[in-house]
Amino acid sequence: MTGSGPLMRPAEPVTWPEGREMAAAFTFDVDAESVALVADPSSASRMSVMTHQAYGPLTGVPRLLRMLDRVGVRSTFFVPGYTAVRHPGIVRDIVAAGHEIAHHGWLHEPLAGVGPEEEAAILDRGLATLEDVAGVRPVGYRAPMWELTWASPGLLADRGFLYDSSLMDADRPYELPAGEGRSLVEIPIHWGLDDWEQYCFVPGLSESTPIETPAKATESWRAEYDAMREDGGCFVLTGHPFLSGRPGRAAALERLIRDIVADRHTWVASLGEIATHVRSLRLPPRSVTRPDPAEWSAG
Ligand SMILES: [Zn+2]
Repeated sequence: MTGSGPLMRPAEPVTWPEGREMAAAFTFDVDAESVALVADPSSASRMSVMTHQAYGPLTGVPRLLRMLDRVGVRSTFFVPGYTAVRHPGIVRDIVAAGHEIAHHGWLHEPLAGVGPEEEAAILDRGLATLEDVAGVRPVGYRAPMWELTWASPGLLADRGFLYDSSLMDADRPYELPAGEGRSLVEIPIHWGLDDWEQYCFVPGLSESTPIETPAKATESWRAEYDAMREDGGCFVLTGHPFLSGRPGRAAALERLIRDIVADRHTWVASLGEIATHVRSLRLPPRSVTRPDPAEWSAG
């Protein structure tokens, strides 16, 4: 072994409020037009594609807000800054309905290969826009495409964020070191608990095929949920209003949420509430280290 970084170890067990055995959160990423524009700016000239994406804030979010009100769940909505500029009314409606607004980039920029200065500028532009439009200073962050950089934890801590939800190496939240003795609560996610891979079909941009039925999508999510209690995990489902806001999908999601809300073993909360709880546990930070070429190169 020549690795110089601290060895990684599994996440600590987490105790949940009210004697519950696990936690669950239902989150939505309001990507809207931004995710298409950042992938290909000429998407702006494709009227139908723009309406496919605008369905999220225009039609999906109102339906999901009504559904969340019926089931009595407080959710977390990750909003790119540009979504807030283009659809300010619906972003204010999300706040008025009592849900959490969190940071999701400016134009949903994928951060692979992006330097810290540019990443910091994106974070600041998103923060300023959410404060301006929605009147909130978010404490939570989710990297677009869940693509965190090794610089992200420090940049987020510099800006006072409490938590991130973009990493994939655990089933339960943990304290992620963020430099200078600071840490972020990390609430892990996974592609298998995302509606994108199930439902997203946009010619030339994202072509998941076949478009799955709501029954199949929710069956897959339910299987993860059912098995997570044994490890005291945190089930985090990620939906996109332009996808899961469609009628049949929203109805199936409502059935899943109703069943989980009725499960006495589970604490259902927003990610902000979960992060606040985890922070109160004062868990020892666990390192997530970057592989060092010296560890794998020959000689
Ligand atoms: Zn997104």
